[in-house]
Amino acid sequence: MKLIKPNIINLSEYNVEQNHTCVKLNQNESPLDISTAMKKEVLEKLLSESWNRYPAGDAIGLKTVIADYADVPVNNIVVGNGSNEMIQTVLYAACDSGDSIVTIHPGFSIYKRIASIMNIAVQEVPLQPDFSFDLDSLTQAGRKAKMMIIAVPNNPTGTTLTALQIRRLAEEFKGLLVLDEAYFEFSHETALESIREMEHVIILRTFSKALGSAGLRLGYMMGKETIIKDIYKARLPFSVGNFQQIAGEIILRNRKWWKSQVDKIITERDRVFKELTQLEGVYTIPSKTNFILFETLNIPARKLYEKLFARGVLVRWFDIPELENMLRVTIGTVEENEIFLDRLKEILQGGKNEPNPV
Ligand code: PMP
Repeated sequence: MKLIKPNIINLSEYNVEQNHTCVKLNQNESPLDISTAMKKEVLEKLLSESWNRYPAGDAIGLKTVIADYADVPVNNIVVGNGSNEMIQTVLYAACDSGDSIVTIHPGFSIYKRIASIMNIAVQEVPLQPDFSFDLDSLTQAGRKAKMMIIAVPNNPTGTTLTALQIRRLAEEFKGLLVLDEAYFEFSHETALESIREMEHVIILRTFSKALGSAGLRLGYMMGKETIIKDIYKARLPFSVGNFQQIAGEIILRNRKWWKSQVDKIITERDRVFKELTQLEGVYTIPSKTNFILFETLNIPARKLYEKLFARGVLVRWFDIPELENMLRVTIGTVEENEIFLDRLKEILQGGKNEPNPV
């Protein structure tokens, strides 16, 4: 007798290279750490907490700060252990084994991963050749689906939908429409207006990107109070501990600080984009996020990935045919981006004394 379900046995492990000695541009993290002053403020507050007690189950303090930032009532919010947990929670709440959901391809792989663990069928609607969304096909595919989950802007392409296009999708799709706005602070495009009016639209956000807190594991979900109340019941109790709640409050409240970091990253994104477009044999996809997907016409992407790694620069390579000659680079600090661009130019120009690929 097999102790573990066959769909789990057949699942590949979720591994992403996490070499911190490199210029690390492979996980769409912020390159800018939380200030020591802010970290100290978090630690001071933690010292005055009782560690023997469970954390506030509803994370009301943190939800109050999120409510103020996002301009939605506290009862319209659920917080979780990263937006990954929110993806799992919404799938738990809405779908049964045998149901089907719709997403886009290439898109964020976790949706399909969690769905397949739960034996939920996934229909993947291809993006257009330029990686823009195919709204008609999405609507068509959505006719028989319980749920649609898409990242706006999308990871790994950086392409997105306008608020108006999201609205159109929300009006046509009758199942649960989950919009993952992990990169909202870089794109400024949101479905907030739709969730104020429509019960079947949910937004997911994260502290892992613009807020520079991937290590914190904090994400949240927003929707109409009636549906949020039900989804909340499917959530793992106490999944957001004291540390996350306290740190999340302090970091989000320091809006001036993280907004200035976001501005720096956007400026750098536009600069790196421009530099990439000037390289022969490199084709870039315009991005509304903190990363850029680019195609390398004169060298196989896997080879370029290895050569960059051998030179101390870690970017992301995807083993899928739709991204065959493409790499994704996260925007780093000015210095990190310079190193990336220098090494890339060196490789593309066939630099001498090449180190062996690892
Ligand atoms: N959604 C998207 C679109 C992402 O790109 C990511 C991170 N790569 C996540 C969700 C996961 O975020 P978190 O760290 O909050 O789990």
